Amino acid sequence: MQIFVPKETHSAEKRVPLIPSDAARLVEKGCEVLIEHGMGAPSRHEDEAYEKAGAAVADDRNAALSAADMVLRLRKPPTEEVALLKPSCIHISYLDPFNEGALVEALATGQVTAISMEMMPRTTRAQKMDALSSQASLAGYVAVIIAAERLAQVFPMMTTPAGTLAPARVFVIGAGVAGLQAIATAKRLGARVDAFDTRPVVAEQVASLGARFVQIDLGETEEAAGGYAKELTAEQQQMQQEAMARVCIQSDVVITTAQLFGRPAPRIITRDVVEQMKPGSVIVDLAVETGGNVEGSEVDQEVEIGGVRIVGLANLPGRVAVHASQMYSANISALVEEIWDAEQKAPDLDLENEILQGCVVTHAGAIVNQMLLDIMSRKS
Ligand code: NAD
Repeated sequence: MQIFVPKETHSAEKRVPLIPSDAARLVEKGCEVLIEHGMGAPSRHEDEAYEKAGAAVADDRNAALSAADMVLRLRKPPTEEVALLKPSCIHISYLDPFNEGALVEALATGQVTAISMEMMPRTTRAQKMDALSSQASLAGYVAVIIAAERLAQVFPMMTTPAGTLAPARVFVIGAGVAGLQAIATAKRLGARVDAFDTRPVVAEQVASLGARFVQIDLGETEEAAGGYAKELTAEQQQMQQEAMARVCIQSDVVITTAQLFGRPAPRIITRDVVEQMKPGSVIVDLAVETGGNVEGSEVDQEVEIGGVRIVGLANLPGRVAVHASQMYSANISALVEEIWDAEQKAPDLDLENEILQGCVVTHAGAIVNQMLLDIMSRKS
C-alpha cells in the first residue's frame, strides 16, 4: 500500500502537500510513503528530512504515479497524469470540480477515487481536514500585510512630538474565515476597522475582534447549507453596492473576501466607487480568482484607477508557503488517517461516512458527489 507525493507542477507554487513531520505520522500508522525527489524543497524541506521520517524518495515520477495506491497533492493533477493512475487509486488534492468537468470525467473514467479538498464538509469533525479554512485564514493575513506595505501611511494611531497620526481606516467586506483573519490582523496593526457580511450572524464575531459591523438592511439574507452565503437578488446587490460605496470612500484600505460556494464571486465595488475613493487608497481583492469583487481587478496584477491601487494577486497563501504547507499537510494527513484502517494497514473507504460523502467526487467509474451532480444537471 503505497502513498506517493509528487512535486507540484505549477512553476510559482511554493507550497508542498506533505511536510516531514506528517510523513512520519503516516509512516507510524503503517503507511508506506514515497515522495518525488525535491518535492518538499520549495517549502525548505529537503529529501533527507523525509528519509529520516521513514519515507522513500523516487526519481521516476511516472513510474511512482503508476504504482501508487494513493496520491497526495496540493493542486489539481494535470489531465495527462490521470491516465497513469491505477484503477482504484485514491487521489487527494484540490480539484476545482465545479470548473474542471473534463478532469473530473477523466478521473471517473480511470476508475480513480478522487477526493476534492475544497468539498470538505464545514463540520466540527472535519475541521482538522479543512484546507479551505486553513489557507483562507493565511490569505486574510497576507492581504492585510500587502495592503500595509502598499499604503503610504501607517496603520496605528501615533502620538508623537511631531504631531498625531490618525489610524488607517480598513474596510473588510466578507467576514468568513479570510475576512475574520484580515480584521484581526488589521486590528493588531492598530487600524480602525469596519466590516460587512451578508450573513448577519457574523456581526457578533466582528465585534468581538474590536471592529465595527456596518449595519445595512438588505432584507432576507439567510445562510445556505454548510454556513455558506446565499446569492443576493439583483435589488439587494444594488442596495449593498450603494451602502458599501459610502464606507469605501472613507477608507484607506478595502479588503474584499466575498465568495459564493461553487459560483462566481459577487461584484460589490464598481469602477465608479473606485474612482470616488481617496487617491493612494489600496484595495486587495481576495476573490479575484473566482471573478473578483471589484470591477477592474485582474488576476495576478496590480491595477491603478484614479490613484487607487487594486491588488489582484493570486495564491496569497503561497506567499507564506512554509506555514501554508504546514497547515495543508496537517489537513491532508488528518484525512488520510480518517480513511486509514491501521489494523488492515489499508484504506477503508466507507462512503457512508459523512466526511467522505462530502468530498469524494469520483469512485468506481462514476461521479458520486451529490452536490456536484446537482450543479452539473443545473448547467446542462
Ligand atoms: P466563503 O469563502 O464562501 O465566503 C467568504 C465570506 O463572504 C462569507 O462569510 C460570506 O458570507 C461572505 N459573502 C458572500 N457574499 C457576500 C456579499 N455579497 N457581501 C458581503 N459578504 C459576502 O466563506 P468561508 O470563509 O469559507 O466560510 C463559510 C462559512 O463556513 C462560514 O459560516 C464559516 O464560519 C463556516 N465555516 C465553518 C467551519 C466548521 O464548522 N468547521 C469551518 C470553516 C468555515
